[in-house]
Amino acid sequence: MKALILPKIVSLHDVDEPLELVDLPKPVPQPHEVLVRVAACGVCHTELDEIEGRTAPPKLPIVPGHEVVGHIEQLGADVRKWKEGARVGIGWIHSSSGAPDENVSDQFRATGRDANGGYAEYMTVGENYAYPVPEVFSNVEAAPLLCAGAVGYRALKLTGIENGQPLGLTGFGGSAHIVIQLARHLYPSTEVYVFARDSAARQFALELGAVWAGDTTDRAPQRLAAIIDTTPVWKPVVEALANLKPGGRLVINAIRKEDSDNAELLRLSYHEHLWMEREIKTVANVTHYDIAEFLPIAGDIPIESTVETYPLEEANRALVELKRRPIRGAKVLVVAND
Ligand SMILES: [Zn+2]
Repeated sequence: MKALILPKIVSLHDVDEPLELVDLPKPVPQPHEVLVRVAACGVCHTELDEIEGRTAPPKLPIVPGHEVVGHIEQLGADVRKWKEGARVGIGWIHSSSGAPDENVSDQFRATGRDANGGYAEYMTVGENYAYPVPEVFSNVEAAPLLCAGAVGYRALKLTGIENGQPLGLTGFGGSAHIVIQLARHLYPSTEVYVFARDSAARQFALELGAVWAGDTTDRAPQRLAAIIDTTPVWKPVVEALANLKPGGRLVINAIRKEDSDNAELLRLSYHEHLWMEREIKTVANVTHYDIAEFLPIAGDIPIESTVETYPLEEANRALVELKRRPIRGAKVLVVAND
């Protein structure tokens, strides 16, 4: 099968083609696993963290990709949950303990980092870590829901907000454009305030129902009960804290942060940014319960994911563009037209 592999850790400042197109044997599903013929795979910021070594795969080469949509082609022994031909999604969690806190378990293994992922024609996964995809979505539309959407859903739950309390989003790319739709559906009386340095992203946020959109460093017209940060850097974290109400919570929705601007953290003033019981929480990643719970909600809304597609062979171009250019919506690799 065709697959893209990451052979070594590199910096995307120096290298334009971090992944290599190779021919690999088709994987064989083990007991309780399914073999999935991949149709589409989203391109996530975490792939940049893997390539550049911020969350390095424990062994190389690896096939990246953890926003996978495809069809089950073969069942391993003892699979009860699925039939051949079913359309499924696969997210960042490839396997874990199965407990409610499995996302922070030391058994956690990530798709495309600890096990081969979806930048390939086929992949295997445990039957409990594949999910039905609502019919309303095409393969390409569904792909970003598997990570950006599902982790965003967990981040939104972790804010602890109640309907009517004002919510902020700092950064407005692949994840936040999904979270805003989710927030407006689950908390219809909540006003959403968006902080983004790119004016096109701010415009996009207003189109999706934000009541206000400003620059990362602006102050919202009111203090917010919670803010979700979906940026890869630190400045928005410091700025967001200053926009929180007393008792407010900032949820950082990132697997890794870049260290390019960590000097910003020295600007943290206890009085301005933290005092009055403001708190910071991080999203570790997701449990399989989060993804299974989120997808039907996404289908009910239905979430519109704005996607830009690339053929599988052009994954390197998609990654470099994700690193270097501001994006509207999410990037998705088209692997097969089914
Ligand atoms: Zn991801």
